[in-house]
Amino acid sequence: MPHIVTIGCGVVGAAIAYELSQIPNLKITTIDRQEPGQGATSAALGVLMSAISHKVKGRAWQLRRNSMERYETLIPELESITGRQIPFNREGILKLCFAGENMTKWEELVKRRRQEKLHLEILSPDEVRSRHPYLGNLDLLIGAIYSPQDRQVEPVALTQALVDAARSKAVTFEFGVAVEGFKTVTTDSGQNSVTQIQTERGNIAVDFLIIAAGLGSTSLTAELKQTVDIRPILGQGLQLHLGHSLSDRDFQPVITGDDVHIVPCTRGREPITDYLVGATVEEPRYANGELDKVLPDAGKLDEVLSRAIAFCPDLAKATVVKKWFGLRPRPEGQPAPVIGPLEGYGNVLLATGHYRNGILLAPATAIAIRDKLKAYLAS
Ligand SMILES: Cc1cc2nc3c(=O)[nH]c(=O)nc-3n(C[C@H](O)[C@H](O)[C@H](O)COP(=O)(O)OP(=O)(O)OC[C@H]3O[C@@H](n4cnc5c(N)ncnc54)[C@H](O)[C@@H]3O)c2cc1C
Repeated sequence: MPHIVTIGCGVVGAAIAYELSQIPNLKITTIDRQEPGQGATSAALGVLMSAISHKVKGRAWQLRRNSMERYETLIPELESITGRQIPFNREGILKLCFAGENMTKWEELVKRRRQEKLHLEILSPDEVRSRHPYLGNLDLLIGAIYSPQDRQVEPVALTQALVDAARSKAVTFEFGVAVEGFKTVTTDSGQNSVTQIQTERGNIAVDFLIIAAGLGSTSLTAELKQTVDIRPILGQGLQLHLGHSLSDRDFQPVITGDDVHIVPCTRGREPITDYLVGATVEEPRYANGELDKVLPDAGKLDEVLSRAIAFCPDLAKATVVKKWFGLRPRPEGQPAPVIGPLEGYGNVLLATGHYRNGILLAPATAIAIRDKLKAYLAS
């Protein structure tokens, strides 16, 4: 059986492991130097902005569309295989539009989405006030867009469920194992192939390699003399404990406004008491130039919280339960994400550089990788 190895078990590597586990007669291994979902994935808010994004055509839209379609089947499928509950908010996303926002562009988007049977609703300021009475200071509000088909998912719970489901279908996972190098051969046609993966725990023979290592993809591709430059963009978020739900109605979409998300922490049928707020977008600074000593800017996180409180004043009464930051993997010189063959290699695929949308795009990425691998195996 061909041995397919994926390096990286963030949400992207885990989604690939699960998708590939459905192809018969493959030996599949996923390797990560940490436990699953501990890289950028652990920092994400899990907001899945698809219909409400301004992407309308080409790959950027197709990936979003494919992901959202797959999410609807993936979550129940994973819950049934693993018995785990994955917090998945099906109540949509409400985007607040303040003075200066071009509402004509939104009207055009509503029409465009309707052609694809996706529903977006434009709300007047009064409709926003009556449906969401907990929102305040809305003098500058000129309207809102409600997208009932967009979602939010808890990224680490999702990653863990993908791992468990893939494991139940005979995928092997090696955690706490860093990949350090490769053995390659060059065929008569001048095409390179990776034949072996070198790890701190020994060597692994491989027939096909998938690099889904987020920021770690830069050094791995450098080892293969085909550097794909993925750079970190820092993001901070925080969890607030309010002790009660913002709304007395049984309806809690993600609220986004002024470039800030307010995400209800949903746990099945339990009442909502906590909210996530984020995220900053910062160039990382490093203490003494050391790359493992990142210094998030506390002022920027305070600013994000103030912006959230400005339109959701009740949050001022909440206590901060936790603050965190993560590094988003952004590709340099090419659009995010990077999905496709590594130049010069016949048996290496990249699934990396998902920047701000890795949770959203993980299912579509896994489908794209599955299709490319199937084509390779058939050739
Ligand atoms: C604050 C914040 C908020 C965000 N919010 C959202 C959001 O709302 N919605 C959304 O869609 N996205 C969001 N994102 C972006 C999202 O988190 C990322 O795009 C996504 O997690 C990338 O997933 P990944 O699996 O590619 O990378 P990672 O999660 O970083 O996984 C890569 C894995 O590769 C492993 N690895 C690296 N090198 C090696 C090696 N040499 N050997 C072995 N293993 C290796 C690492 O240990 C790591 O586990 C947010 C990000 C941040 C920071």
